[in-house]
Amino acid sequence: MAAYDYRCRTCGTTFEVRKPIGETATDVRCPDDHVDVARIWSPIAVARASSGSPMSRPASAPVATGGCCGGGCCG
Ligand SMILES: [Zn+2]
Repeated sequence: MAAYDYRCRTCGTTFEVRKPIGETATDVRCPDDHVDVARIWSPIAVARASSGSPMSRPASAPVATGGCCGGGCCG
C-alpha cells in the first residue's frame, strides 16, 4: 500500500489516502466529503510510499576536503 497526503482546498484539512501501489487515487474526497482536494508532495509521504527504495541514502556522505590543496589545483 502507498499513502498519499491530500489537502482539502475547501476546509483546509489534510488527510491521508491509502491505495495499492501503482493505482492512481481518483475521486478523492476529504473527510467532510469535499471534492476540491490537492495532492501534497511532501518528502515524508514520498519516503513512506516508497519504503525500501534506494532514494533513502545516508544524509551525511563524506565530502572531500574542500581546500585548494585538497583538490589538487595548487600543485
Ligand atoms: Zn474538506
